[in-house]
Amino acid sequence: MPDPRERKSAYREKRRRARERPCDCCGATPPFCWQCRKCGFTICTDCMNENVWGMSCNGITWECPDCGGQNGFGNQ
Ligand SMILES: [Zn+2]
Ligand SMILES: [Zn+2]
Repeated sequence: MPDPRERKSAYREKRRRARERPCDCCGATPPFCWQCRKCGFTICTDCMNENVWGMSCNGITWECPDCGGQNGFGNQ
């Protein structure tokens, strides 16, 4: 008979792994990355800080270099 606690922890583990996508620029896997809502392009905060001049013109949204989608800084 399966232990319900085990199933819950396995589910949580799967979700945690799915979120840990490496940065598409440098390949690092920091605890937090910006991610494009359209195509899933991922960029870490270090790379974002380095490239923000080319990806954001207002500091509120950033443009995905892969698909050109607009993503907000605030709600991720
Ligand atoms: Zn990076
Ligand atoms: Zn994109």
